[in-house]
Amino acid sequence: MIPFLDLKAQYQSIKKEIDEAISNVLESTQFVLGNEVAAFENEFATYCNARYGIGVNSGTSALHLALLAAGIGVGDEVITIPFTFVATVAAIGYTGAKPVFVDIEPDSFTIDVKQIEKAITKQTKAILPVHLYGQPANMDPILEIAQRYGLTVIEDAAQAHGAEYKGRRVGSIGDFGCFSFYPGKNLGAYGEGGMVVTNNENYAHTIKLLRDWGQEQKYHHVLKGYNYRLEGIQGAILRVKLRHLEAWTKARQSHAKQYNEQLANSGVQIPKVMHYSRHVYHIYAVRTNQRDTLQQQLQQQQIQTGIHYPVPVHLMPAYADLGYQVGDFPQSELAAKEVLSLPMYAELSNLAIEQVCEFI
Ligand SMILES: *Cc1c(COP(=O)(O)O)cnc(C)c1O
Repeated sequence: MIPFLDLKAQYQSIKKEIDEAISNVLESTQFVLGNEVAAFENEFATYCNARYGIGVNSGTSALHLALLAAGIGVGDEVITIPFTFVATVAAIGYTGAKPVFVDIEPDSFTIDVKQIEKAITKQTKAILPVHLYGQPANMDPILEIAQRYGLTVIEDAAQAHGAEYKGRRVGSIGDFGCFSFYPGKNLGAYGEGGMVVTNNENYAHTIKLLRDWGQEQKYHHVLKGYNYRLEGIQGAILRVKLRHLEAWTKARQSHAKQYNEQLANSGVQIPKVMHYSRHVYHIYAVRTNQRDTLQQQLQQQQIQTGIHYPVPVHLMPAYADLGYQVGDFPQSELAAKEVLSLPMYAELSNLAIEQVCEFI
């Protein structure tokens, strides 16, 4: 069997370091926030080239707090894409604001910058680009439009730890960068986790308050906050794993190169890397109009694959109230029918990739 993801292989490769880090937290009893979380916040912010990092309990919470810190709420609109994980859109809804969709560009699966301006209204407060699959959105035009209309830019970097746009690390390009440390992400905790990074001191301060009940000192609540704190054990584990992240990213890139070479004449379309991108391959997705058949046949060969994502958010029953219809975002709808994610993780063997490619 070739799994889509193998978290156990990674744990076994760093078991000694991880077990020791967990044991230290147990001894310290700093189970919520604490020194390990604070150290990880600094180290991860540095990794992103950002001044501040605020650890939270999920990527979704990171998005929610970034939106709140930007002052977004009822009556506001936030522009994003429908071809994303539902959390991007859910977080906008949590604030009371309305998600407004712009279609993706088919080559990069990221927001089509040519279509952003026509989605802007008087209510628009922010643009929320998603660095889908680990490839950055085209940030320069996004920043230029945001500047012109006075909009905040919040990067959904949940799939893009260490990705770069024109040599700049994602997360520190817009006003906020939001990361997830869900176990299957490129940098994954052993539970839930997330972080907001920013270069703005006021934003960092607000998010720090909001994640911990809005308290400035214990029991002195100056904002209506949340219990969105990152756990000590996760901070300690993530510190260990951050030290390996670059090596793991390089392994993913090398696997992508092997897939690209061996799938070149297979009839499936391989991922396109934009000239401005350092792609970190959270997902290696090919495209074919025979996707469902291919997936079933791979499954019969014990090769696991995934679909990210089979239904664009504007067509989900949960978001019917937004009033969109079939045909509103044709590139997102087509991608949802054609993408197939192949096995991708640092420990994946060359032989396994060869077998997958041969079968395709
Ligand atoms: C994983 C993910 C999120 C949410 O992160 P959680 O940690 O699962 O809450 C948000 N956006 C995208 C694009 C994601 O892939």
